[in-house]
Amino acid sequence: MSDHDETKHGLRDRVVGTWRHAVDSAKDSVGDLINSVDADLLYDTGADIADTKAPKVDIAQRWDERKFSAKLVNPANRRKLSVIIVGTGLAGASAAATLGEAGYHVTSFCYQDSPRRAHSIAAQGGINAAKNYRNDGDSVYRLFYDTVKGGDFRSRESNVYRLAQVSTNIIDQCVAQGVPFAREYGGLLDNRSFGGVQVSRTFYARGQTGQQLLLGAYQALERQIAAGTVTMHTRHEMLELVVVDGKARGIVVRNMVTGEIETHTADVVVLASGGYSNVFYLSTNAMGCNVTATWRAHRKGAHFANPCYTQIHPTCIPVSGDYQSKLTLMSESLRNDGRIWVPMSGEDKRDPREIPEAERDYYLERAYPAFGNLVPRDIASRAAKNVCDEGRGVGPGGLGVYLDFADAIERLGRKSVEAKYGNLFDMYAQITGENPYETPMRIYPAVHYTMGGLWVDYDLQSSIPGLFVTGEANFSDHGANRLGASALMQGLADGYFVLPNTINDYLAAGPFPKVDPADPAVAEAVGLVKGRIDKLLSIKGSRTVDSFHKELGHIMWDYCGMERSEEGLRKAISLIRELKTAFWSDVRVLGTGEGLNQALERAGRVADFIELGELMCIDALHRRESCGGHFRAESQTEDGEALRHDDEYAYVAAWEFAGEDRRPVLHKEPLVYEYVELKQRSYK
Ligand SMILES: Cc1cc2nc3c(=O)[nH]c(=O)nc-3n(C[C@H](O)[C@H](O)[C@H](O)COP(=O)(O)OP(=O)(O)OC[C@H]3O[C@@H](n4cnc5c(N)ncnc54)[C@H](O)[C@@H]3O)c2cc1C
Repeated sequence: MSDHDETKHGLRDRVVGTWRHAVDSAKDSVGDLINSVDADLLYDTGADIADTKAPKVDIAQRWDERKFSAKLVNPANRRKLSVIIVGTGLAGASAAATLGEAGYHVTSFCYQDSPRRAHSIAAQGGINAAKNYRNDGDSVYRLFYDTVKGGDFRSRESNVYRLAQVSTNIIDQCVAQGVPFAREYGGLLDNRSFGGVQVSRTFYARGQTGQQLLLGAYQALERQIAAGTVTMHTRHEMLELVVVDGKARGIVVRNMVTGEIETHTADVVVLASGGYSNVFYLSTNAMGCNVTATWRAHRKGAHFANPCYTQIHPTCIPVSGDYQSKLTLMSESLRNDGRIWVPMSGEDKRDPREIPEAERDYYLERAYPAFGNLVPRDIASRAAKNVCDEGRGVGPGGLGVYLDFADAIERLGRKSVEAKYGNLFDMYAQITGENPYETPMRIYPAVHYTMGGLWVDYDLQSSIPGLFVTGEANFSDHGANRLGASALMQGLADGYFVLPNTINDYLAAGPFPKVDPADPAVAEAVGLVKGRIDKLLSIKGSRTVDSFHKELGHIMWDYCGMERSEEGLRKAISLIRELKTAFWSDVRVLGTGEGLNQALERAGRVADFIELGELMCIDALHRRESCGGHFRAESQTEDGEALRHDDEYAYVAAWEFAGEDRRPVLHKEPLVYEYVELKQRSYK
């Protein structure tokens, strides 16, 4: 590994100058629209916050120590305690199965018609674990180090170390469940590499790893459903959180088939509701993914952390037209064997197979010789954008680069490439009509994952007591950039191993007094849901929900996407505020609230995306540094890499909702690095 020790200080002076210049010229050049948004008046600053749950012992002992110090609940008492879990993806299904098996009364919710249709099923490439089966120098510490560095030093050390420790248990658990991981000839589990690392630690089941892992978790969940410890509510959407005496005690859901509004209460609530990439309209996420569960909790007091940290994945099938509503990922695993290139000259329009080696630019291999095509996603995405901005992109509109398997097919043979990646190649052929065994794939970056989410402490408890958050819905482990194959690891770590050990500590004080259905907090939450539905149905405007979503997506992609700037973000905030006003006065939602109404479902989600979009831009504006997936045009090294400002921004930005039409309040959780040295990240 060749980490350059180029420290920020020399560069910093140069960049502050560039920054000031950029801000001044923004002031001169932009019109009233942008000037109406004064960056410093967008939020208030509250008291710093800290995680108080991670024990103050050596990092390698912290998780054992916490498991020991956390209070236990004896098996007889578990039967008296109830848990609501929203979400049946890897994070939610694993938690429900484990807590059900432990004897708690679990009630699970998802909006799909089956728990196994959760978005997790789409995950392709693999799941990381520090097993060191390849004997290539891997270890718990290396996985921890790679993840902290990959996240551009913006994650919490304690949580990441625990994730690396627990990663090894996940594989054992899944193998025991019968998950069909790929195996080598001798029968041992196979591994491949993902971006940002130099070892092979990614376990996989062809290009269907998420599906196989979810089937494992789903079977465990179904077993508990059959045993009566888990009650499953499919086609139910959580629309509000019920907070009684400061504690999360339930949720209000809409039965998506009958339209009935129901209240469910419990001793504790867990949100495992996934990420919010669809705020960008076009993303690789399942169409249904949304922010409503976490956003509603945020409005009830849960801090939202680092909302601007989004991941743009470098290897997606390029957008092909304006009618498109979904993007398709080509798994990062393809970068193990595929080589990424563009023609040396933007004028070169020949069939790629006719372009000789000397006239190709394998730009990742050239610029990052140590990691080559396996640099982390944020770096690979920006590099693709840069070559396309230079006019060297390929395909329609010049927004594409080649991912070429010709060398791999020659070296390994077509059969072996087919065995590893066959279903991905088939998918590409079906969508594009091109045969990737014969001509290079065309790929371009697309929104894929959100590192931000509800703030949680080491116990995965949010700032609302009794509200726990797991999987992609929380912010906890990936800093400003997630490494490939680490989301599945985190979801299952949270659900199978972390939450079941920490939630006891909270539940040991229970059972809490039963929530009275007439409690004002319940009435308020139900009233909010019904009022919103009535409002959405009563506007009867002229624009479809999708037209608002699409417009929001354009704003977010243009100004809060792969590159962000002071001027662009200020403009985006103005535009989003205008969009919000237009939405609430001109949206047209057909049908009624009684029964299946997909336009109504989408309207509620888009309304929340609009509010989230504004907070994302405020977060991105206030963070006047580049880190990981958050690339501020004004803050870059001479080589065009992300330039952090650790002296000012080495903190988690946890945002508090202060009320309707009030400014959000920023709480900082300072990040302390005791086990990894803060450095300018380099993959050269
Ligand atoms: C195409 C693609 C490929 C990927 N490949 C990989 C990979 O190879 N390796 C890797 O590590 N990561 C991968 N990821 C990322 C990974 O799949 C996700 O981060 C992870 O699956 C999220 O799991 P989760 O359990 O947190 O949420 P999800 O799987 O998104 O589940 C969310 C659940 O919450 C429910 N829900 C949400 N809101 C509500 C509500 N309001 N009311 C009721 N229920 C609700 C949903 O019904 C669903 O059951 C990939 C992502 C994509 C998009």
